[in-house]
Amino acid sequence: MFEYAPAPESRDIVHIRPSYGLFIDGEFTDAKETIKTIDPATEEVLAEVGSAGPEEVDLAVRAARTAFETVWGPMPGRERAKYLYRIARIIQERSRELAVLESLDNGKPIRESRDVDLPLVAAHFFYYAGWADKLAHAGYGTKPLGVAGQVIPWNFPLLMLAWKIAPALATGNTVVLKPAETTPLTALVFADICRQADLPPGVVNIITGAGETGRLLVSHDGIDKVAFTGSTEVGRQIARSVAGTSKRLTLELGGKAANVVFDDAPLDQAVEGIVNGIFFNQGQVCCAGSRLLVQEPVAEEVLARLRTRMATLRVGDPLDKNTDIGAINSAVQLQRIRDLSEVGEQEGAERWAPPCELPEKGFWFPPTVFTGVSQAHRIAREEIFGPVLSVLTFRTPEEAIEKANNTPYGLSAGVWSEKGSRILWAAQRLRAGVVWANTFNTFDPASPFGGYQESGFGREGGRHGLEAYLEH
Ligand code: NAD
Repeated sequence: MFEYAPAPESRDIVHIRPSYGLFIDGEFTDAKETIKTIDPATEEVLAEVGSAGPEEVDLAVRAARTAFETVWGPMPGRERAKYLYRIARIIQERSRELAVLESLDNGKPIRESRDVDLPLVAAHFFYYAGWADKLAHAGYGTKPLGVAGQVIPWNFPLLMLAWKIAPALATGNTVVLKPAETTPLTALVFADICRQADLPPGVVNIITGAGETGRLLVSHDGIDKVAFTGSTEVGRQIARSVAGTSKRLTLELGGKAANVVFDDAPLDQAVEGIVNGIFFNQGQVCCAGSRLLVQEPVAEEVLARLRTRMATLRVGDPLDKNTDIGAINSAVQLQRIRDLSEVGEQEGAERWAPPCELPEKGFWFPPTVFTGVSQAHRIAREEIFGPVLSVLTFRTPEEAIEKANNTPYGLSAGVWSEKGSRILWAAQRLRAGVVWANTFNTFDPASPFGGYQESGFGREGGRHGLEAYLEH
């Protein structure tokens, strides 16, 4: 093990207020009910935020409607673009503040929020700003839908906000967005950024609250479009509530991605890809490479190198710049990871984690690998959404594809091989919205992202991401 001196990022740049209201029609208004948000690394209460009820949801939807009809819908695309560019630039200017706040509220390592989340958030706004005056060339029409109701999860709070809000605004829609109850703070700073950018009131409305607030939003008669990212179970409920209405719907749900390592793969690179695939953001990633499929001749070698690499991962303070694995987002999520990992042991899989000291307070789970996993095991079928890898082996390429596709999900997959022909052969057969070759968890705003089957439908990112917000 390497010893490092602690290198914590200062939190002085962040000014968390004791309480926040709801951001409706360009103003923060106090909510009747409130909920608390905590730092999952210390269990310290960070702030109290509003919990929007029926009247407040209604106010937000009405504000978005008025803004759509009077200002934002009629505005020429080149004018809308200026606001999006301005927002993108302010995000860059305030990126350190946003990264620290994201790590405090979510538990993710500062290295990730600073170097991955924030640059991608700004890039998304820049990218869609560029489309705002070129919709006629995108091929999906130019007419916005109206008001979008958007509900997002806690794993990438600000990045999911960007994925939802940037294409909606670029296409001339207005939005009411509900962040997850455990990670509302960066969305509330984003509301402040909208004011700083002089965005007309009502174009973006942020209403905080738990699942009930989300349910009230997606079932409100005044919205034209629902965009949801989160669990498959809630996705199903939303699909049922939207069925039979004229609302348009996109769902980005769970996954159980296969990361397929062939025997000719560059093994050290593959091990880095496996680590990135399952331990990035504590494995709380819908496209995480949670099933490692490794070809038999190299299985032992890959596992030996993986264990050596895992022993160097540093678990702890999310604000420390050396930290690789931060805190699990909530006590509830930690319990889910623990429960499913216990099931893995009961089913006969072999569990291994490197020795590591976990902090006493907060929600922590060590990087863990299960070997001897069979396809019937629950840990090979269900989304664990934590730093837990299930390892299966295969003999032939055909067997690899069969096992990789043996899942109700279909969001992402990884292929590791030195041969381009083998990569193309596999990519054509893997039933997944995104297939990475000799890399994993690589994102770009120009590239569409989305799933098959129970992973949802619709694409976010790229030109394709415009389609969900236009009438055609
Ligand atoms: P969730 O689906 O319950 O929550 C996601 C968002 O939906 C939150 O903002 C929540 O408040 C809201 N919500 C909850 N119930 C709602 C309803 N009936 N109508 C409208 N909105 C509602 O996810 P969770 O409970 O935080 O996590 C559960 C599991 O979901 C995780 O263990 C993981 O497997 C999966 N998950 C997937 C993603 C993803 O990116 N695909 C993200 C988070 C969680």
